[in-house]
Amino acid sequence: MSIFASFSPIAAIATTSPAISILQPLCQTIGATLYIKDSLIPLENTHAYQGSLKDHLATIWEQNNAFIFCLAMGAVVRLIATLLGHKSTDPAIIVVDPSGQFVISLCSGHEGGADRLTQLIAHQLNATPIITSASTNLSIPGIDILGKPFGWVKGPGNWTAVSHAIACGETVQVIQESGSTLWQHNLPESHSFYFGWPEISEEINPKARIWISSTLRRFSPDSDLPKIQWYPRVLWVGIGCIRGTSQSLIEKAIKQVYQQYHLATESIAGIATIDIKADEIGLVKYCEVKELPLLTFSGDVLKMVEVPNPSDVVKQEVGTPSVAEAAAIYAATIKSSESVSSLPSLLVPKQIIKSEEEIGTVTVAIAKSNIEYTGKIGQLYLVGMGPGSLDQITPAAKTAITQADAIIGYSLYLDLIKPLKRPGQIIEALPITQERKRAQRAIELAQWGLTVAVISSGDCGIYGMGGLVLEELQNQGWDGNIPQIEVFPGITALQAAAARVGTPLMHDFCAISLSDLLTPWTVIEKRLEAAAKGDFVTAIYNPRSQTRTEQISHAQRIFLAYRNETTPIALVRSAYRKDEKIILTNLTEMLNFTIDMLTIVLIGNSSTRHYEQWMITPRGYLGFD
Ligand code: SAH
Repeated sequence: MSIFASFSPIAAIATTSPAISILQPLCQTIGATLYIKDSLIPLENTHAYQGSLKDHLATIWEQNNAFIFCLAMGAVVRLIATLLGHKSTDPAIIVVDPSGQFVISLCSGHEGGADRLTQLIAHQLNATPIITSASTNLSIPGIDILGKPFGWVKGPGNWTAVSHAIACGETVQVIQESGSTLWQHNLPESHSFYFGWPEISEEINPKARIWISSTLRRFSPDSDLPKIQWYPRVLWVGIGCIRGTSQSLIEKAIKQVYQQYHLATESIAGIATIDIKADEIGLVKYCEVKELPLLTFSGDVLKMVEVPNPSDVVKQEVGTPSVAEAAAIYAATIKSSESVSSLPSLLVPKQIIKSEEEIGTVTVAIAKSNIEYTGKIGQLYLVGMGPGSLDQITPAAKTAITQADAIIGYSLYLDLIKPLKRPGQIIEALPITQERKRAQRAIELAQWGLTVAVISSGDCGIYGMGGLVLEELQNQGWDGNIPQIEVFPGITALQAAAARVGTPLMHDFCAISLSDLLTPWTVIEKRLEAAAKGDFVTAIYNPRSQTRTEQISHAQRIFLAYRNETTPIALVRSAYRKDEKIILTNLTEMLNFTIDMLTIVLIGNSSTRHYEQWMITPRGYLGFD
């Protein structure tokens, strides 16, 4: 499953046969390598190790991002004790108890991702996750992983002390000057963050401070207020340079300008220049080493950008009066978001830097985009959450929901999946009428680099959000790959309803939605006619809403033309939800009962029958077999 790709390579360790039977199927699903002791019977897809496990671990420690042990926790602690270094570099360590009931996040819960991986594995094993991080238990995102979804870079500070202040519920001042504020929208009411500026800090007496900014803050060593800084990558650096300028001069020039303007180089989103510089070796190398994108624009594009310092000389040489300023502004503009109100701006006008020791000249300008560059390829999970209760969601769908950075769906469904949510997730509920908007928003977030789960009830590809998202992507000229898509099937309403009344779908069946908001009634009518005539068992979705009240009686009339008056009907409302209601009736009497938006209507075929509280469609038309 691609969900686990961000954790891989993952190693799993089993020293007993019961442990193998728990870990082997898990490893297959999540793409982990299973190591077993060589004295155990070797199985497919397992790697046998010889000698002591301690020695073996030492040899595979460096190349794995996560370890899953199915062993006593004490044994695991002793095994890894000498291998642990620092929480920023150690792998995630997870322990599954030998009966497979509990999954424990042992080490590197935040930065190593063990807490998250523990939850995902617990979904896979239908086990209870055990997470002891303070932030998880307060339902707030860990401060040391807060900016991860947005690609922020961790800056200096006393991270342990700030985390401690948050865990103790002390007032922690947050000064956010740039980067997305989406993380603030779903904090629990009990959080102790204070969002405000330093002037008023005395009144609120904060015990710690968080800076989220592209400005370089020099924390005074003698202040005892613990502080940390995150750097959102919002700054686009426009570069102009003469042919052959060295990588080191480019680096020196950027550093110098950043220092002069008190900006953090960690906040660089990327480099922008004119297309004829796309093969400028020093520049290309600089971007490679720093892992920065290099955006290049044609002179025709750049000359349209208004800049404060145009130059005739530059215009004569390359056909645009500005390279650095224009490229910086243009990059910041195209990388800005329309849904954020602030506009991109030129922060640093062009600076020309030369060096006595080296050949070349570098022009640097810096523009700020209104949204950070995440540096990530976004993903869209199209998730079917089944009819309503948590135990009817597939483990894969649960895993996708918990893993996503953002969850988008209709509020009723988001309430139903509350227990799967993780602190720090962005939750966006839009009303049922705004499905297209929901799809567009999901795409926007995924194109920006987030992993977004779009939730539908039942199956997301059956009258669900899945189709809307793919349709919308196609309209936008999607290349089929970015953002990446994964579809997670769910139990659709017709299966859920059928299960509650027995086996009505035992023979050929079809589904028809009576919603004529997007489908002409004539088409729906034609299908009802065909289904009735063809003697299909028929599941009617969207049978009636507050405004669409007549369609269900039309459907009844059409079926009465071809089927017996006593044809069995099941009206299943809110299957598998708290207010579930089931009525067994027949074709003539069906309209005497409540049928609404939450109801699905199952119409039997000519051999379907009611038996006690059950609805049975025989397997064949020849009678029971
Ligand atoms: N994607 C969903 C269908 C959405 S259309 C799925 O695959 O099930 C909405 C219609 O589905 C409702 O009007 C109702 O007819 C039906 N429906 C969805 N969930 C239901 C449930 N739990 N019980 C009964 N009907 C349901």
